[in-house]
Amino acid sequence: NLPLVAIVGRPNVGKSTLFNRLTKSRRSIVGDEPGITRDRIYGEYEWGGRRFRLVDTGGIVPDDPELIPTEIFNQARVALQDADALILVVDVRTELASPDYDLVRMLLRGGKPVFLAVNKAEGEAMAAAAENFRQLGIREVYPVSAEHGVGIGELLDAVAEAI
Ligand code: GDP
Ligand code: MG
Repeated sequence: NLPLVAIVGRPNVGKSTLFNRLTKSRRSIVGDEPGITRDRIYGEYEWGGRRFRLVDTGGIVPDDPELIPTEIFNQARVALQDADALILVVDVRTELASPDYDLVRMLLRGGKPVFLAVNKAEGEAMAAAAENFRQLGIREVYPVSAEHGVGIGELLDAVAEAI
């Protein structure tokens, strides 16, 4: 039974890009259109001589923006039940809104290790901007670029240490 790591977060933040990079696959569809990811895609990755199972909880996100938070919450709730650790992905360029704080509160209440991956953090300024995301209340904050493979090792080290 391999430890299970779940990737959660809003549409378009780069969850599937991260999933594909870790699993060295192209199984999860990457795109700019919300709703492009199919429901819960599973893969595996190896880190530090151990294997992990990984789930991309993209979900079928409805076109109606009002419904998006509901679906993200449902996906996160399932992930909390199943996973041993959660990676919440946010886009460094996105303004935080109250649903983000609600989601974090719910994740932290689950009592499982939660890691914040501040994605698209390319370049010095972006890495600094990632610091702003500390206000979400997650202690483990990792600026990453899923697309360019930056910061991923630090994130995976922390995840592996926690589970
Ligand atoms: P998801 O909806 O959260 O699964 O997001 P996707 O993985 O489909 O990515 C959404 C968009 O963000 C795509 O156009 C990706 O190419 C882009 N993207 C993903 N990761 C990065 C990154 O690290 N840097 C930049 N600049 N773009 C990224
Ligand atoms: Mg996706």
